[in-house]
Amino acid sequence: MRLLLLAPPGAGKGTQGERLAARFGVRHIAAGDLLRAEARAGTPAGREIAACQERGDLVPDQIVLDVLTPVVVSAVAEGGYILDGFPRTLPQATAAAELAGRLGLTLDAAVYLYAPEPVLTQRLLGRAGQGGRNDDTADVIRHRLQVFTETTRPLVSYYQNRGILLAVDADQPPESVTADIEARLCGLPVIGGG
Ligand code: ADP
Repeated sequence: MRLLLLAPPGAGKGTQGERLAARFGVRHIAAGDLLRAEARAGTPAGREIAACQERGDLVPDQIVLDVLTPVVVSAVAEGGYILDGFPRTLPQATAAAELAGRLGLTLDAAVYLYAPEPVLTQRLLGRAGQGGRNDDTADVIRHRLQVFTETTRPLVSYYQNRGILLAVDADQPPESVTADIEARLCGLPVIGGG
């Protein structure tokens, strides 16, 4: 199983990524977590990552690719992955497609999780109230949502054009979202066998 989750902040990428990885027995690759780990390591790239994450800006593509590529390659060797939060820009999507081509594989599906913006904002502010991340403040949340709309949402058409987009309503309880994703995946020729 090779799947990617395309979703605005607060849509539940992390939760669904974990659930789907457990369900299909593949690795959950969370771009934000890997970048936060690199930031904590305090390397020069790590310092740039920390600054971008704090502002809610995207980390430069080359840094993201340097961190993510080896992880994706090793997950492929172990049977697949659920990519959560990567790719997030068109150049990242192109680089990911080139990498897949070099490895001789294709992506099974790109799952787009959508929810109304006020719902996303409320969820993120709720997480902030429970001692969440330093980018879960009202201003930074607003900026992250804007970055999603401007830079990441164009990937919805990119994957739609490639015929692998599954759009799923994320404004439901987590179990229902997982059930919807699984139902849609069963409809795919390769996975559903039909
Ligand atoms: P959220 O989707 O809620 O913003 P993430 O943990 O996925 O949470 O991402 C947090 C931050 O990490 C982003 O605001 C950005 O700074 C950085 N980031 C994560 N994935 C990418 C990516 N693919 N490209 C660039 N920056 C990224």
